[in-house]
Formats: sequence, structure tokens, C-alpha cells
Amino acid sequence: MRKANIVCTIGPATDSYNAIVRLLKCGMNVARLNMSHGTLESHQKTLNNIKKARKDMKVPCGIMVDTCGPELRIGTFEKDKVTLVKGQTFVFSTTEVIGTINEVYCGYPALLDKLKSGQKLYANNGLLEFTVKGVENGKIICRVDVGGDISNHKSISIPRFRLPLPFISEKDEKNIEFAAKNDVEFISASFVNRPEDIIEMRECIKKYGGRQEIISKIESAEGIKNLDKIIDLSDGIMVARGDMGTEVPIEHIPSIQKDMITRTVQRGKSVIVATEMLESMIYKRRPTRAETTDVAQAIYDGTSSTMLSGESASGNYPFDATSTMASIINATEKVIDYSNKQMPVFKNAHRNLDAISYSACETAKAVNAKAIVCYTDKGKTAKMISRFYPDAKIIALTHNEFVYHSLSLSWGVTPVIVKEFNKIEDMLSNAEKVVKELKFAKAGDKIVITLGIPIAEKGTTNAIKLTVLN
Ligand code: PGA
Ligand code: MN
Repeated sequence: MRKANIVCTIGPATDSYNAIVRLLKCGMNVARLNMSHGTLESHQKTLNNIKKARKDMKVPCGIMVDTCGPELRIGTFEKDKVTLVKGQTFVFSTTEVIGTINEVYCGYPALLDKLKSGQKLYANNGLLEFTVKGVENGKIICRVDVGGDISNHKSISIPRFRLPLPFISEKDEKNIEFAAKNDVEFISASFVNRPEDIIEMRECIKKYGGRQEIISKIESAEGIKNLDKIIDLSDGIMVARGDMGTEVPIEHIPSIQKDMITRTVQRGKSVIVATEMLESMIYKRRPTRAETTDVAQAIYDGTSSTMLSGESASGNYPFDATSTMASIINATEKVIDYSNKQMPVFKNAHRNLDAISYSACETAKAVNAKAIVCYTDKGKTAKMISRFYPDAKIIALTHNEFVYHSLSLSWGVTPVIVKEFNKIEDMLSNAEKVVKELKFAKAGDKIVITLGIPIAEKGTTNAIKLTVLN
């Protein structure tokens, strides 16, 4: 059974009900809707398909709405795509135009005052390069330094340049409302730079009556600098290597990735490694060896999840990409000795949950327990146990369907829906029953159970029970 999870971006190649069912069979754990593409109507259809598919298949599958964030996106081209050549002039027009080989719409008039001649701009995650030659009549006139293909709605990046844009645009607010109304589990927030950005996003979610977990996408130098504070306020982090790769020297990304994973997991939060993981599978049925190693390396680094973007959204082989990613993760996890993972020792377990989650893992390790079963109202207990990478399987029993799906980003956790109990004995015997049904352990095996006593008091995990299955 796989421990790290797979996030698949859903797009034109995979937005039908049948395709989503197929993705779930191939190993998708979380479905991501990228709001930078498509319309609210098209996303609503996709979302309904995901909800129906996860229900029909009886599997947990989180839904993630990915905001546009304060980034620059171009408009559309007459023929969807153009190929720019080195040395030509290309114009970003802040007034609406239909895109051609000479110009494209980029509706951010606030840029006009800020951009100076000589400033570098990038498109397609840095593949295309431009230099600003001048700004006049609402147009940003550029020279193309490195040419290539550019298509509808691609983003433009200006490294280490604070964009004169609000963190939550009008469009983002509509998307947050959409996420809240549809009660999706996650919002992945693009370009989180400062802790204040998350506070603003939480308020916006609250305004629409939502309860979404916030996954902060770290993709700027400022976001990397503020990482610790951002982790503290977020529910998870995405290592957004695409935009990050134009903001910081690309050779620093591997070490930044490792560091971000460690710091996020230590705090009991989930982390997603994203972008270009199996990029060549957009066009080919098999990945490069380097991509295979990249996915495996993220698993060695201890990531909670890996992500597919264009590979699953618009590529030629979305299902192969997903099942290939699942096979690489499975094979890598098989050779990692989780029983020997060093656990940090707590000198100061401030909260009950620190002590209980740690002790549950230590106990499981000491007696070679096959599973750690935790009753969890909000999912927190399961997440705190997950950060120690126990060899034993983690089973999260919850009566809350939202929590059930939101645990699909947590490393090594199998969520199971249970009814609410009012007797401790029933909870214990039910835990044993679930482990046996899942075939995670058999008679004679040991399991560790965590729960809160008295059981009527919610959110008070404070007890560990060691049991031998009979
Ligand atoms: P994006 O974010 O795909 O929404 O741009 C991920 C990244 O930048 O890596
Ligand atoms: Mn990005």
C-alpha cells in the first residue's frame, strides 16, 4: 500500500466522469482544479464529476481549488498559440487585443508605471525570455531574447519584482467563493509571500462560510524567506518548483525542496512536490530516467505527496503518467527502511497530542505493531502521527466526511468513515474489526489504538491502547 499521495491536475484530457474514475484506479488521491484555466461553469461540471466518482468508487479523494494568485497571465491568441523568434519585437498590451505573433493582451495597467527599460520578463516557467524596451500608450514593448511557443493564458514572471497587485483579486475571490460553496477540502493559494496573505485568505474563506484547508504554494524568494511563519499559519505547503525556478537560481531548488519538506512535516502538516515531475510524459508513454529519479527523490526526501500538472490535465498519456508515478512511489517506499527512521526526541511536548502521537509511534515500533488506529474528529491526530513516518499503517477513523477526504494529502494515512460511538469498548472492538477488514493485520498481530477519554469530549486524544488481535 502506497504511503505518499498523488495529486492529479484535472483538465481537458481528464475532466469527464469516466476519466476521473480511471485516474482514481491509477492512483489519484487528490484532484486539483487549476482556476487559471477554464471557466467557473466548466470547473463546476468537473467538480460534480469528481464528487460522483469518489462516491461511486467509495474512496477518499480530496478536491483542491488552485487560485490564480497575484500573477500575470496573458490573454488568448487568435490561433491559441504562436512561436516567437529571437530578436523580434513583442508587445504586452494592457488594453484588450486578440493575440498575434506581434502582441498579446496582459491586463495589468498597474505595471506600466513600475516597469523600466532593461527589465527581464519570462514566460513558460522561464523557457521564453524578454527584455523591456519601453512602455508607451498602455503597451509594454519587449525584445524577444529567447523565443519559443507561447499559448493562451500563460503566466509571465518578473523575478524578485513585487507586483503591484492585491493578494486576492476579484477573480480569486470568486474562486474562493466557489470552493467554499462546493465545500471542497483544499484551496492551494498561489504565490503566498507573507504570513498576512494566509490570514487574508482565511478571512475570505470565512466570509463565504467555508472551512477549506489552505495549502500555501511557495514560489517566490519572499515566500522562501518567510517559510516558517507561513507553515505555522497554513495547513500544508506546495513546493511550487515551476515559478520558483524563475525566482531563485534553479540549482538551489533540490536543497530548497528537501528543507521545505523537513520543516513542514516536522510541524505535522502536509507537503506537495509539484511541477515537471514527469513532464516528458505529456508527449511520450514512458518517462525519462531523470524524471523517474526525481519522483523517487521526493519520496526519499519524505514528501507527503507528489503532483502531476500538464501530464494529467492536458497530456497525451494522463493515465500512464498517474500509474507510472504510483509505481515509482511504491517501488521506492519498498526499499526505504521506515522502521529505522530516526524520531526526534521531544524534551518539551507542549501539547497532549505531541506526546500521544510520539508515544503511539514509539510503542508501535517497540512491539512491531502492524497498525496505529486513531479516532480523529478533525484529522489532527492522524496528521501528527504521520509526521514520524511509522512503519505501521496509520488508520484514521472519523465520522466526518470532510475530514475523511481531507486526509488524502497525509502521508501513510488510510481514512475510514465510522459512525459515532458512545462506549469505549465499542470503539476498541471496532478498531480491531477495521484493521482486519483492511487486511492490515491478522490474528496474533499487535495494533496500537489512540482515542480520547471521556469520549463525549471532542478533540481530546489522550489515551493509547495496545491490543493483540484475536
Ligand atoms: P502552477 O503552480 O502550476 O499553478 O503555476 C505550480 C508551480 O509554479 O510550480
Ligand atoms: Mn506557479
